Amino acid sequence: MIDLRSDTVTKPSEEMREAARDAEVGDDVYGEDPTINELEARTAEVLGTEDALFVPSGTMGNQIAGRVHTERGEELLCERESHIYKWELAGLAQHAEVQPRTVDGGPRGAITPEQVREGYVEADGHRPGTGALAVENTHNSRGGIALSPEEIEAAAEAAHNLGVTVHLDGARLFNAAAAQDCSAAEFVEPVDTVMCCLSKGLGAPVGSMLAGSEELIEEAHRVRKLFGGGMRQAGMIAAPGLAALANRERLGEDHRRAGRLADGLASVDGLTVDDPDTNIVLVHTDRPAEAVLDNCEAEGVLGVPFAEHTIRFCTHWDIDDSDIERAIEGVERAV
Ligand SMILES: *Cc1c(COP(=O)(O)O)cnc(C)c1O
Repeated sequence: MIDLRSDTVTKPSEEMREAARDAEVGDDVYGEDPTINELEARTAEVLGTEDALFVPSGTMGNQIAGRVHTERGEELLCERESHIYKWELAGLAQHAEVQPRTVDGGPRGAITPEQVREGYVEADGHRPGTGALAVENTHNSRGGIALSPEEIEAAAEAAHNLGVTVHLDGARLFNAAAAQDCSAAEFVEPVDTVMCCLSKGLGAPVGSMLAGSEELIEEAHRVRKLFGGGMRQAGMIAAPGLAALANRERLGEDHRRAGRLADGLASVDGLTVDDPDTNIVLVHTDRPAEAVLDNCEAEGVLGVPFAEHTIRFCTHWDIDDSDIERAIEGVERAV
Protein backbone atom coordinates (compact mmCIF):
# COMPACT_ATOMS: atom_id res chain seq x y z
CA MET A 1 0.00 0.00 0.00
CA ILE A 2 1.31 3.46 -0.89
CA ASP A 3 0.02 5.53 1.99
CA LEU A 4 -0.28 9.17 0.95
CA ARG A 5 -3.01 10.03 3.47
CA SER A 6 -0.73 12.16 5.63
CA ASP A 7 2.87 12.81 6.61
CA THR A 8 1.86 11.57 10.08
CA VAL A 9 1.77 7.91 8.97
CA THR A 10 5.59 7.51 8.99
CA LYS A 11 7.14 4.79 11.15
CA PRO A 12 10.07 5.74 13.43
CA SER A 13 13.53 4.93 12.09
CA GLU A 14 15.97 2.54 13.78
CA GLU A 15 17.84 5.62 15.00
CA MET A 16 14.68 6.94 16.66
CA ARG A 17 13.88 3.58 18.25
CA GLU A 18 17.39 3.34 19.65
CA ALA A 19 17.22 6.94 20.88
CA ALA A 20 13.96 6.11 22.71
CA ARG A 21 15.45 3.00 24.29
CA ASP A 22 18.62 4.74 25.43
CA ALA A 23 17.06 8.06 26.51
CA GLU A 24 18.08 9.47 29.85
CA VAL A 25 14.83 10.16 31.66
CA GLY A 26 13.39 11.78 34.77
CA ASP A 27 10.05 13.14 35.93
CA ASP A 28 9.21 15.94 33.51
CA VAL A 29 6.42 17.32 35.69
CA TYR A 30 9.27 18.19 38.10
CA GLY A 31 11.32 19.47 35.13
CA GLU A 32 13.79 16.62 35.69
CA ASP A 33 13.80 14.82 32.35
CA PRO A 34 17.16 15.66 30.76
CA THR A 35 16.08 14.53 27.29
CA ILE A 36 12.99 16.75 27.32
CA ASN A 37 15.07 19.63 28.63
CA GLU A 38 17.51 19.11 25.79
CA LEU A 39 14.74 18.94 23.19
CA GLU A 40 13.16 22.13 24.52
CA ALA A 41 16.49 23.97 24.55
CA ARG A 42 17.40 22.74 21.08
CA THR A 43 14.00 23.76 19.69
CA ALA A 44 14.25 27.23 21.20
CA GLU A 45 17.67 27.57 19.60
CA VAL A 46 16.43 26.47 16.16
CA LEU A 47 13.37 28.73 16.32
CA GLY A 48 15.14 31.69 17.90
CA THR A 49 12.85 31.89 20.95
CA GLU A 50 13.68 32.18 24.64
CA ASP A 51 12.01 28.92 25.55
CA ALA A 52 9.99 25.96 24.26
CA LEU A 53 7.64 23.33 25.67
CA PHE A 54 7.17 19.72 24.58
CA VAL A 55 3.47 18.88 24.13
CA PRO A 56 1.81 15.59 23.14
CA SER A 57 0.16 16.96 20.00
CA GLY A 58 -0.10 19.95 17.73
CA THR A 59 -3.71 20.35 18.70
CA MET A 60 -2.80 20.69 22.35
CA GLY A 61 -0.04 23.16 21.48
CA ASN A 62 -2.44 25.34 19.50
CA GLN A 63 -5.12 25.29 22.18
CA ILE A 64 -2.62 26.08 24.93
CA ALA A 65 -1.49 29.05 22.85
CA GLY A 66 -5.09 30.20 22.35
CA ARG A 67 -5.55 30.03 26.09
CA VAL A 68 -2.38 31.86 27.14
CA HIS A 69 -2.93 34.72 24.69
CA THR A 70 -6.51 35.49 25.66
CA GLU A 71 -8.95 36.12 28.46
CA ARG A 72 -12.02 33.90 28.61
CA GLY A 73 -14.70 35.03 26.16
CA GLU A 74 -12.47 37.22 24.01
CA GLU A 75 -12.24 36.77 20.27
CA LEU A 76 -9.46 35.00 18.42
CA LEU A 77 -9.00 36.06 14.83
CA CYS A 78 -8.08 33.27 12.43
CA GLU A 79 -8.37 32.11 8.85
CA ARG A 80 -11.62 30.49 7.69
CA GLU A 81 -9.91 27.24 6.69
CA SER A 82 -7.35 27.19 9.50
CA HIS A 83 -6.64 24.01 11.44
CA ILE A 84 -7.07 25.66 14.83
CA TYR A 85 -10.63 26.61 13.85
CA LYS A 86 -11.73 23.83 11.55
CA TRP A 87 -10.05 20.60 12.63
CA GLU A 88 -9.71 20.74 16.42
CA LEU A 89 -13.21 19.79 17.61
CA ALA A 90 -14.10 23.37 18.53
CA GLY A 91 -11.19 23.41 20.96
CA LEU A 92 -11.18 27.20 20.67
CA ALA A 93 -14.59 27.19 22.36
CA GLN A 94 -13.92 24.34 24.77
CA HIS A 95 -10.26 24.68 25.72
CA ALA A 96 -9.05 28.13 24.74
CA GLU A 97 -12.48 29.47 25.79
CA VAL A 98 -12.60 32.09 23.08
CA GLN A 99 -14.95 33.01 20.29
CA PRO A 100 -13.28 32.55 16.95
CA ARG A 101 -13.74 35.24 14.32
CA THR A 102 -12.71 34.08 10.90
CA VAL A 103 -11.44 35.96 7.87
CA ASP A 104 -11.17 34.55 4.37
CA GLY A 105 -7.51 34.39 3.45
CA GLY A 106 -8.29 33.36 -0.13
CA PRO A 107 -6.71 30.49 -2.01
CA ARG A 108 -3.39 30.89 -0.17
CA GLY A 109 -4.89 31.34 3.28
CA ALA A 110 -2.92 34.54 3.81
CA ILE A 111 -4.43 37.02 6.27
CA THR A 112 -3.62 40.57 5.19
CA PRO A 113 -2.94 43.51 7.53
CA GLU A 114 -6.20 45.10 6.28
CA GLN A 115 -8.13 42.00 7.29
CA VAL A 116 -6.54 42.09 10.73
CA ARG A 117 -7.63 45.71 11.15
CA GLU A 118 -11.14 44.98 9.84
CA GLY A 119 -11.54 41.88 11.98
CA TYR A 120 -10.28 43.54 15.12
CA VAL A 121 -12.93 44.15 17.75
CA GLU A 122 -12.46 46.68 20.53
CA ALA A 123 -13.84 45.68 23.91
CA ASP A 124 -16.79 47.72 25.11
CA GLY A 125 -20.18 47.20 26.70
CA HIS A 126 -21.32 44.99 23.81
CA ARG A 127 -18.21 43.51 22.26
CA PRO A 128 -15.73 41.06 23.76
CA GLY A 129 -12.49 42.45 22.33
CA THR A 130 -9.88 40.64 20.24
CA GLY A 131 -7.35 38.71 22.29
CA ALA A 132 -5.19 37.06 19.67
CA LEU A 133 -4.50 36.45 16.01
CA ALA A 134 -3.63 32.96 14.74
CA VAL A 135 -1.87 32.43 11.42
CA GLU A 136 -0.92 29.13 9.78
CA ASN A 137 2.17 28.17 7.76
CA THR A 138 2.22 25.98 5.79
CA HIS A 139 -1.52 26.21 5.33
CA ASN A 140 -2.87 22.67 5.40
CA SER A 141 -6.42 23.06 4.07
CA ARG A 142 -5.30 25.44 1.35
CA GLY A 143 -2.96 22.75 0.03
CA GLY A 144 0.29 23.12 1.94
CA ILE A 145 0.78 26.72 0.83
CA ALA A 146 4.02 28.24 2.11
CA LEU A 147 3.58 31.90 3.04
CA SER A 148 6.64 34.15 3.01
CA PRO A 149 8.21 35.59 6.17
CA GLU A 150 7.06 39.02 4.91
CA GLU A 151 3.40 37.93 4.79
CA ILE A 152 3.57 36.60 8.35
CA GLU A 153 5.34 39.73 9.52
CA ALA A 154 2.81 42.08 7.90
CA ALA A 155 -0.16 40.38 9.59
CA ALA A 156 1.68 40.16 12.92
CA GLU A 157 2.66 43.81 12.82
CA ALA A 158 -0.93 44.88 12.16
CA ALA A 159 -2.05 42.79 15.15
CA HIS A 160 0.67 44.10 17.46
CA ASN A 161 -0.21 47.67 16.53
CA LEU A 162 -3.67 46.93 17.92
CA GLY A 163 -2.25 45.34 21.07
CA VAL A 164 -3.16 41.83 19.86
CA THR A 165 -0.71 38.95 20.35
CA VAL A 166 0.03 36.45 17.59
CA HIS A 167 0.26 32.67 17.45
CA LEU A 168 1.71 30.85 14.46
CA ASP A 169 0.40 27.35 13.78
CA GLY A 170 3.54 26.01 12.19
CA ALA A 171 2.67 22.32 12.26
CA ARG A 172 4.70 22.16 9.04
CA LEU A 173 6.89 25.22 9.67
CA PHE A 174 10.05 23.50 8.42
CA ASN A 175 8.28 22.66 5.15
CA ALA A 176 7.50 26.37 4.83
CA ALA A 177 11.14 27.23 5.50
CA ALA A 178 12.35 24.73 2.88
CA ALA A 179 9.86 26.08 0.31
CA GLN A 180 10.66 29.73 1.02
CA ASP A 181 14.38 29.03 1.26
CA CYS A 182 14.70 30.74 4.63
CA SER A 183 15.22 29.70 8.24
CA ALA A 184 12.24 28.71 10.40
CA ALA A 185 13.32 31.45 12.81
CA GLU A 186 12.44 34.09 10.21
CA PHE A 187 8.76 33.12 10.48
CA VAL A 188 8.93 33.08 14.26
CA GLU A 189 10.65 36.41 14.81
CA PRO A 190 7.50 38.54 14.29
CA VAL A 191 5.10 36.33 16.32
CA ASP A 192 4.64 35.65 20.04
CA THR A 193 4.27 31.87 20.02
CA VAL A 194 4.73 29.13 17.46
CA MET A 195 3.69 25.50 17.42
CA CYS A 196 5.50 23.01 15.23
CA CYS A 197 4.97 19.26 14.91
CA LEU A 198 7.77 16.73 15.25
CA SER A 199 5.35 13.98 14.21
CA LYS A 200 4.69 15.10 10.63
CA GLY A 201 7.33 15.48 7.92
CA LEU A 202 10.11 15.22 10.50
CA GLY A 203 9.03 11.66 11.23
CA ALA A 204 8.90 11.46 15.03
CA PRO A 205 6.32 9.04 16.45
CA VAL A 206 4.83 11.58 18.88
CA GLY A 207 4.98 15.19 19.87
CA SER A 208 4.93 18.85 19.03
CA MET A 209 6.68 21.94 20.36
CA LEU A 210 5.23 25.23 21.55
CA ALA A 211 7.83 28.00 21.62
CA GLY A 212 7.91 31.65 22.68
CA SER A 213 9.11 33.96 25.44
CA GLU A 214 10.02 32.61 28.89
CA GLU A 215 6.97 34.30 30.33
CA LEU A 216 4.49 32.81 27.84
CA ILE A 217 6.05 29.35 28.03
CA GLU A 218 5.89 29.43 31.83
CA GLU A 219 2.16 30.09 31.56
CA ALA A 220 1.87 27.44 28.82
CA HIS A 221 3.46 24.96 31.23
CA ARG A 222 0.60 25.51 33.68
CA VAL A 223 -2.04 25.19 30.96
CA ARG A 224 -0.44 21.98 29.64
CA LYS A 225 -0.86 20.51 33.14
CA LEU A 226 -4.47 21.71 33.23
CA PHE A 227 -5.18 20.01 29.88
CA GLY A 228 -3.74 16.73 31.17
CA GLY A 229 -0.53 17.05 29.18
CA GLY A 230 1.93 16.83 32.07
CA MET A 231 3.99 13.74 31.31
CA ARG A 232 6.51 11.85 33.43
CA GLN A 233 9.49 9.95 31.91
CA ALA A 234 8.56 11.38 28.53
CA GLY A 235 12.19 11.53 27.44
CA MET A 236 11.32 8.16 25.90
CA ILE A 237 9.20 10.00 23.32
CA ALA A 238 11.25 13.20 23.25
CA ALA A 239 14.44 11.38 22.19
CA PRO A 240 13.05 10.44 18.75
CA GLY A 241 11.91 14.06 18.53
CA LEU A 242 15.51 15.22 18.88
CA ALA A 243 16.50 12.90 16.05
CA ALA A 244 13.52 14.19 14.05
CA LEU A 245 14.64 17.81 14.36
CA ALA A 246 17.75 16.90 12.39
CA ASN A 247 15.51 15.66 9.56
CA ARG A 248 14.38 19.11 8.58
CA GLU A 249 17.09 19.30 5.95
CA ARG A 250 15.48 16.51 3.92
CA LEU A 251 11.98 18.00 3.54
CA GLY A 252 12.89 19.36 0.10
CA GLU A 253 12.86 15.73 -1.10
CA ASP A 254 9.20 15.41 -0.13
CA HIS A 255 8.45 18.64 -1.99
CA ARG A 256 10.21 17.44 -5.10
CA ARG A 257 8.21 14.19 -5.00
CA ALA A 258 4.96 16.10 -4.48
CA GLY A 259 5.82 18.11 -7.58
CA ARG A 260 6.38 14.93 -9.58
CA LEU A 261 3.13 13.42 -8.28
CA ALA A 262 1.22 16.58 -9.24
CA ASP A 263 2.77 16.57 -12.74
CA GLY A 264 1.92 12.92 -13.26
CA LEU A 265 -1.66 13.25 -12.05
CA ALA A 266 -2.28 16.44 -14.02
CA SER A 267 -2.18 14.42 -17.24
CA VAL A 268 -4.94 12.05 -16.06
CA ASP A 269 -8.35 12.74 -17.64
CA GLY A 270 -10.93 13.74 -15.03
CA LEU A 271 -8.41 15.27 -12.62
CA THR A 272 -7.15 18.80 -12.13
CA VAL A 273 -4.24 19.32 -9.80
CA ASP A 274 -3.09 22.35 -7.81
CA ASP A 275 0.59 23.11 -8.27
CA PRO A 276 2.06 22.16 -4.87
CA ASP A 277 4.24 24.52 -2.80
CA THR A 278 5.33 21.79 -0.39
CA ASN A 279 4.44 18.15 0.36
CA ILE A 280 0.65 18.39 0.00
CA VAL A 281 -1.04 17.77 -3.35
CA LEU A 282 -4.69 18.73 -3.81
CA VAL A 283 -6.42 16.89 -6.63
CA HIS A 284 -9.87 17.91 -7.88
CA THR A 285 -12.00 15.12 -9.31
CA ASP A 286 -14.96 15.07 -11.71
CA ARG A 287 -16.50 12.21 -9.76
CA PRO A 288 -17.07 12.29 -5.98
CA ALA A 289 -13.74 12.13 -4.15
CA GLU A 290 -14.90 9.24 -1.94
CA ALA A 291 -15.68 7.06 -4.97
CA VAL A 292 -12.33 7.83 -6.59
CA LEU A 293 -10.56 7.06 -3.31
CA ASP A 294 -12.31 3.67 -3.04
CA ASN A 295 -10.89 2.78 -6.46
CA CYS A 296 -7.48 4.16 -5.47
CA GLU A 297 -7.45 1.91 -2.43
CA ALA A 298 -8.18 -1.09 -4.63
CA GLU A 299 -5.15 -0.02 -6.70
CA GLY A 300 -2.96 0.22 -3.59
CA VAL A 301 -2.94 3.99 -3.13
CA LEU A 302 -4.34 5.87 -0.15
CA GLY A 303 -5.34 9.53 0.09
CA VAL A 304 -7.93 11.46 2.10
CA PRO A 305 -11.09 13.23 0.96
CA PHE A 306 -10.69 16.97 1.51
CA ALA A 307 -13.94 18.17 -0.03
CA GLU A 308 -16.69 16.54 -2.06
CA HIS A 309 -14.54 16.66 -5.19
CA THR A 310 -11.08 17.14 -3.70
CA ILE A 311 -8.52 14.59 -2.56
CA ARG A 312 -5.38 15.31 -0.57
CA PHE A 313 -2.21 13.31 -1.15
CA CYS A 314 0.76 13.94 1.09
CA THR A 315 4.38 12.89 0.55
CA HIS A 316 6.65 11.93 3.45
CA TRP A 317 9.85 10.09 4.25
CA ASP A 318 8.42 6.57 3.89
CA ILE A 319 7.67 7.40 0.23
CA ASP A 320 10.39 7.13 -2.38
CA ASP A 321 10.58 7.95 -6.10
CA SER A 322 9.33 4.56 -7.22
CA ASP A 323 6.31 4.82 -4.87
CA ILE A 324 5.42 8.08 -6.60
CA GLU A 325 5.56 6.47 -10.06
CA ARG A 326 3.45 3.55 -8.86
CA ALA A 327 0.99 5.95 -7.21
CA ILE A 328 0.55 7.88 -10.45
CA GLU A 329 -0.18 4.66 -12.36
CA GLY A 330 -2.52 3.42 -9.62
CA VAL A 331 -4.54 6.63 -9.48
CA GLU A 332 -4.75 6.72 -13.28
CA ARG A 333 -6.25 3.21 -13.31
CA ALA A 334 -8.55 4.11 -10.41
CA VAL A 335 -9.94 7.16 -12.22
C1 LIG B 1 -1.70 18.36 11.97
C2 LIG B 1 -1.93 19.79 12.23
C3 LIG B 1 -2.18 20.26 13.54
C4 LIG B 1 -2.41 19.34 14.71
O1 LIG B 1 -1.41 18.46 15.03
P1 LIG B 1 -1.77 17.07 15.78
O2 LIG B 1 -0.44 16.64 16.30
O3 LIG B 1 -2.33 16.17 14.73
O4 LIG B 1 -2.74 17.37 16.86
C5 LIG B 1 -2.32 21.62 13.71
N1 LIG B 1 -2.21 22.46 12.68
C6 LIG B 1 -1.98 22.07 11.43
C7 LIG B 1 -1.85 23.06 10.35
C8 LIG B 1 -1.85 20.70 11.15
O5 LIG B 1 -1.64 20.30 9.90
